[in-house]
Amino acid sequence: MQNNLETPVANPLTEDFQRERKLSFLERIYLPEIFKGLWYTFKQMFAPTFTMNYPEEKWDPPSIFRGRPVLVEDEGQERCVACGLCARACPPLAISMQASESEDPKERYPEKFEINMLRCIYCGFCEEVCPEEAIVMSKDYDIVFESREDAIYDKQRLLVPKEDLKERLDYLHDYRNNQFGQFWNFNEDNNIHSVRDRDRDWNTGLSLVDMLEQQKKNDAIKASSNWSL
Ligand code: SF4
Ligand code: SF4
Repeated sequence: MQNNLETPVANPLTEDFQRERKLSFLERIYLPEIFKGLWYTFKQMFAPTFTMNYPEEKWDPPSIFRGRPVLVEDEGQERCVACGLCARACPPLAISMQASESEDPKERYPEKFEINMLRCIYCGFCEEVCPEEAIVMSKDYDIVFESREDAIYDKQRLLVPKEDLKERLDYLHDYRNNQFGQFWNFNEDNNIHSVRDRDRDWNTGLSLVDMLEQQKKNDAIKASSNWSL
């Protein structure tokens, strides 16, 4: 009978076929191995830990982390202009909204904005397509629901002041679209999408349609005065 498993067995169908190594007496009673395991466990009690005692200890993710998507609240108002791009880009159709328009200043805003967090896959597409930097991925990963209805976050639950999202906004400021060699400053002068910002900067008090009409009239006057010269 062969004891060495490394030696090839000539005929595995005969009774001589050696399937297992023979155990020694100590190995057969298992006790030394049990004590070895206990000793290893005991040693680990004094070793440095690599885990956190969640939820007592909370992890603070880096700004690159994509937690639950939130709406940016800027000076007490949502930045969102209810253009619907995020809902269109969202792969699992988690976003739904209803647009409305305020009177003074005339501005589109989402009357209803909901994200179904049971559907959200944290892809960040909504953040990427948003022309207003109005929806961003937060650091919030601690999300619990008690029912399906509870998982549908409405506008009030989604709105977060921009000061609390500073790290993510700064991250977007530094890295967004860098791969294409482009950069848009969404917040300040390059924000060409928001009528609210135009009103604030130009102080016209006119709606976008009125402003375009005014622009046309101004152009016509300019053209005719050039003609008369
Ligand atoms: S992170 Fe992705 S899945 Fe979630 S709401 Fe935004 S686009 Fe939809
Ligand atoms: S893409 Fe931005 S501005 Fe447009 S609806 Fe979504 S959050 Fe609002």
